[in-house]
Amino acid sequence: MTVNTWALTYEGFDPQGERLREALCVLGNGYFATRGAAPEAAADEVHYPGTYVAGCYNRLTSQIGGREVENEDLVNLPNWLPLSFRPADGDWLDLAAMEVLDYRQELDLRRGVLARSLRARDRQGRVTAVTQRRFVHMADPHLAGLETTLLPENWSGRLEVRSALDGRVTNSGVARYRELDGRHLVPLETGVAGDDAVWLLVETNGSRVRIAQAARTRILRDGETVAAGRRTVQEPGLVAQELAVDVREGEPLTVEKVVALHTSRDRAVAEAGDAARQRVARASSFEELLERHALAWDRLWRRCRIEVGSDGDQEVARTVNLHVFHLLQTLSEHTIDMDVGVPARGLHGEAYRGHVFWDELFVLPFLNLRFPELARALLGYRFRRLPEARWAARQAGYRGAMYPWQSGSDGREETQRLHLNPRSGRWLPDHSHLQRHVNIAIAYNICQYYQVTGDVEFLSEQGAEMLLEIARFWAGIATYNRTLDRYEILGVMGPDEYHDGYPDRERPGLDNNAYTNVMVAWVLCRALETLELLPTHRRAELEEWLGLRREEVERWQEISRKLRVPFHDGDIISQFDGYERLQELDWDGLRRRHGDIRRLDRILEAEGDTVNRYKASKQADVLMLFYLLSADELLALLDRLGCPLQPASIPRNVDYYMRRTSHGSTLSGVVHAWVLARSDRLGSWRFFTEALASDVHDVQGGTTAEGIHLGAMAGTVDLAQRCYTGLETRQDVLWLSPSLPEELDGLDFDVRYRGHWGVNLSLTPELLRVRVADHDSATVKLGVKGEVVEIQPGGVREFPL
Ligand code: BGC
Repeated sequence: MTVNTWALTYEGFDPQGERLREALCVLGNGYFATRGAAPEAAADEVHYPGTYVAGCYNRLTSQIGGREVENEDLVNLPNWLPLSFRPADGDWLDLAAMEVLDYRQELDLRRGVLARSLRARDRQGRVTAVTQRRFVHMADPHLAGLETTLLPENWSGRLEVRSALDGRVTNSGVARYRELDGRHLVPLETGVAGDDAVWLLVETNGSRVRIAQAARTRILRDGETVAAGRRTVQEPGLVAQELAVDVREGEPLTVEKVVALHTSRDRAVAEAGDAARQRVARASSFEELLERHALAWDRLWRRCRIEVGSDGDQEVARTVNLHVFHLLQTLSEHTIDMDVGVPARGLHGEAYRGHVFWDELFVLPFLNLRFPELARALLGYRFRRLPEARWAARQAGYRGAMYPWQSGSDGREETQRLHLNPRSGRWLPDHSHLQRHVNIAIAYNICQYYQVTGDVEFLSEQGAEMLLEIARFWAGIATYNRTLDRYEILGVMGPDEYHDGYPDRERPGLDNNAYTNVMVAWVLCRALETLELLPTHRRAELEEWLGLRREEVERWQEISRKLRVPFHDGDIISQFDGYERLQELDWDGLRRRHGDIRRLDRILEAEGDTVNRYKASKQADVLMLFYLLSADELLALLDRLGCPLQPASIPRNVDYYMRRTSHGSTLSGVVHAWVLARSDRLGSWRFFTEALASDVHDVQGGTTAEGIHLGAMAGTVDLAQRCYTGLETRQDVLWLSPSLPEELDGLDFDVRYRGHWGVNLSLTPELLRVRVADHDSATVKLGVKGEVVEIQPGGVREFPL
């Protein structure tokens, strides 16, 4: 079967799969995104329309089992989609109540257009064909459009069209959050603007963000506007226009809805309502808007395309395109001027409440090499929350900055203290805020960004201050154990969320999580290096500002050499102290009993047991070390820590933890695919294709419908980009060491790095070709097989493999 690598296509209407399609067919532009919901449907068992503006949060308190639970949500904003029709004496379009004769939905990845076509027969036997196209504008981030063409196939008469803006929506897209309050919006005003538009203004009830939408609805026949009778309906939180026209059998009619969306947080506006009304009044036709939108996408794809050549299996290439597509819809050039971070589940649904975790670790590598200014803006999200992170550290008794595990509007800790196990129905204490390793991810991202861009200004202005404050936090949380003559980090959690404590200890948290300790040594080394890198006057300024004295810096030196790294069975790095005492899990038995055991924690808790008792991880933890650091770098670091590891031990460690991981997080597949890429290519390919399938085939059974997994999406793309090419940027050299999986016959993409605008990499199993665009201004230094060569602008070099 040939697959169109630029389209996601669905045939037939499938109520059960509808929410998954909605998430995968989200359209967005980095400023806002809207789920691919049917325009005629409101939220119900089948449909869940959702519109989210990046960074638009609101906090609510709910009562759960007599306790107050506070949550900050990415707010589901008024639904701008509603558009329906009926014959004057008939029923509104309702697929559940009508006979659906044809149904097809297609997401055009190249142009960012979602199309739907269907034919439905109503109770009176009237058949109407409907085709719809929509966009969320990639060039003007405040605009969206929906075009509907109606063809009465076997009837004539009066047709009524209803076009609405519905602000009566709530956050109710995730079943397990339903006991929590999801009513964030207060209706403020509605009105009519000009001849053909209506508008709506609402406000979030805590953060007091005002959200305005204006919708212009026009009816066209043969490209000409048709005069239609109009009636405006205004109710609290809802505004609609009902239009009526005569239609004739076989003659198509087009309804064009153009919508503007503004909030009171936008830049360059006086008032959101005014801005929305004005924007929609000035907007050109659907067709013209679409043209500019497609042009904007065209530009994005020229920069971001990753061509994956795979003989038979076009699915891989298509999914890579889909992943880049959703990444660019979540984070785009429009994000740069906003105060937003990397939401773990995109702007695609309400899972994890739109919060920002450590997932940017998997997302920034793609952006660093294409949109460094965007990567920098996302680090800016963390910089603006540095005071809050300092406050959090101080509250916990430390110096420096302690960033939260889950972050939202102001950077306080947003992790819930209770979570529901849907399997047992129990609300349980949630200790995941102990994942202090998020501070490693932020530091790592700062260093990676600097490596790729050489942006000393960023380092001087923001990066170094964050990095030094993070280093200071780690140095403070580390305690000296005299008996061992080692520094320890006690009472934290690693990336593996299954283990949040010891089965026989009341207090949550684990001691000496190896990933944390080794990476903290790495962070301290980078902080020390950064001090050297800074221009002298800036270094002096920062030292003065932070009160950073020599003794403190010397202590970082010492800790970076003496952090405890636990081992067991000889050369196996223990995930944490005492790991070896845990029991082995009966994986086969559990699989036999439960089938899918990805969420082992929930299964065991429902059986009255706890996963804390077992050697079983949700996701890569120790193996994260092999993912983030090259083998050479890791071995050198362990050497420095006085616990040398032989290269031959690496595969033993990989194998050990691979056997004990359930991959309950989609990030796990990405990491495993990476660490196996050069030793077990078949195994690596399996993980890669599984990670690719995570969302498009919803392998976790229901989670994608609540939002895509942005980390896994970006992580898979980054595998193609950096892992299969062995791409590293060290100092001023672009190093490549290709290792293409056998299943791929080629890779082709462009990167931007250190001021070089277009370096094209083209890889086949036999040949690596590097071309430098002739518009590039400087020579590119390229390192292949230990040798550095220079390529002039306009030059090409080939390397047989
Ligand atoms: C994973 C975390 C991740 C979070 C958000 C969890 O399931 O365990 O590592 O940060 O999802 O994507």
